[in-house]
Amino acid sequence: MFDKILIANRGEIALRILRACREIGIQTVAVHSSADRDLKHVRLADESICIGGPSSTDSYLNVPAIISAAEITDSEAIHPGYGFLSENADFAERVEKSGFTFIGPRSETIRMMGDKVSAIEAMIKADVPCVPGSDSPLDDDKERSIKIAKRIGYPLIIKAAGGGGGRGMRVVHTEAALLNSISLTKTEANNFFGNDMVYMEKFLETPRHIEFQILADKHGNAIHLGERDCSTQRKHQKVIEEAPAIGITEEVRQEIGRRCANACAEIGYFGAGTFEFLYENDEFYFIEMNTRVQVEHPITEIITGVDIVIEQLRIAAGEPLNYTQDDIKFTGHAIECRLNAEHSETFIPSPGKIEKLHFAGGPGIRIDSHIYSDYTVPQYYDSMIGKLIASGKNRESALARVKNALNETVIDGIHTNIPLLRNIVVDKDFNSGIYNIHYLEKKLGL
Ligand code: ADP
Repeated sequence: MFDKILIANRGEIALRILRACREIGIQTVAVHSSADRDLKHVRLADESICIGGPSSTDSYLNVPAIISAAEITDSEAIHPGYGFLSENADFAERVEKSGFTFIGPRSETIRMMGDKVSAIEAMIKADVPCVPGSDSPLDDDKERSIKIAKRIGYPLIIKAAGGGGGRGMRVVHTEAALLNSISLTKTEANNFFGNDMVYMEKFLETPRHIEFQILADKHGNAIHLGERDCSTQRKHQKVIEEAPAIGITEEVRQEIGRRCANACAEIGYFGAGTFEFLYENDEFYFIEMNTRVQVEHPITEIITGVDIVIEQLRIAAGEPLNYTQDDIKFTGHAIECRLNAEHSETFIPSPGKIEKLHFAGGPGIRIDSHIYSDYTVPQYYDSMIGKLIASGKNRESALARVKNALNETVIDGIHTNIPLLRNIVVDKDFNSGIYNIHYLEKKLGL
């Protein structure tokens, strides 16, 4: 196992990684921007280094500064968390070439799965169900695009191969709009992602977003930890997640999970990873793989008892998986609410000083958050300030606890989305469990 690792991230996930390290006796190095000196994990880390100015480009995306910090501190490995450089294959490669261990899969694997077209190709080969689509990039051949579209059928969606964060997608309802939509999406993709490759797939009208968590080691062992339902989204951003997903039978869970785990073995994947699917009419359709720890990993930890971050560390150090598939049992139900520093109606970010803070507690409540009283939420980064996770022996009990916990929570001084979350968890449709990816935007009248 490593003696010391560097945490190349900030906020709640940096704190989560630090806690995992503490638990198994690894020393930690926190790197931070000049705006983040007061971050909780920076204060708690064994060592900390300021690597640049407030803007992410100068700090959390500043590869040479992060590598130098690892060198100066004799760190053995770098944990990228999520966001920032976590799915940047060039960064992973630089880390490997500089003689450190990247806590995640190989840079080639990240590159392959980061390109959605090559990811889909790999998944089709590995027998993971995909959305009917072009299965290859769209070229300048207009007739070919029209033909593919006819085969798939309308409505369809044009997506950027290098896309992420819900950007670079356009729905097309008629052939008349097809060619123009392709060229618009190409331009956007080029502007956002520096890569104008786009592809086409069937647009599913009322799917749920269901994803499978996997763990794979460097010895060819891979297991799945079941699924999460992340359909409660706004602008393709997840707001509430739950595990297990309602209505997924143990048989289906094992079948799809096994295919994901087998795919990992096939592509030589190691580390934690997530296979994202759209689910409609009892069918799963792969849309992308995330080659890192997810924001919503705690709900899976709760229902399986597996510490995903500790497993990431163990896998990166070359240890074999602690579990076989038969060891994984699913118990109870967990619901996670993402807490954001933003106005709950306008969604305008609300950085500033936290004047008063009371988090909820009691049975089945877990808070993953870096904020504290008098902490100032900086204006420079993502607005997520933590996660409130409630669990119970079944969905009903988890729901009752999440309602109580949201009502108990006090965060004064800044606006948060807690009023919205309170509103969702008492909503009839959310409670009935019959909801899909359009549920929240419909409720909000968007
Ligand atoms: P990103 O990498 O930007 O998150 P994804 O491919 O994961 O992109 O898609 C994000 C969201 O966009 C999905 O959760 C879903 O809401 C919507 N979406 C993507 N592909 C389709 C599709 N084929 N049909 C319907 N909705 C889709």
